[in-house]
Amino acid sequence: MATCPHCKGHLTDGHRCPRRRGFVVAESIAYTFAGGLAGWLLLMAFDPHSQTNMDLVAIVAGSVVAIAITRLLRG
Ligand SMILES: [Zn+2]
Repeated sequence: MATCPHCKGHLTDGHRCPRRRGFVVAESIAYTFAGGLAGWLLLMAFDPHSQTNMDLVAIVAGSVVAIAITRLLRG
């Protein structure tokens, strides 16, 4: 059995290297911030003068959606 040059695991068909924990955490944080920013920008697009005071709600909602999507994509 060949071994993977990156992670030294068994190089089976469709092998994927296990990702390092620190990287996964950093990635999750990045997605959370990106989602929050996206939610806030979306709110700005629909409510440019912040009439609804929904900034925090939009940021939290965007973060939650981003986390949910990454969970789904990761399986
Ligand atoms: Zn590997």
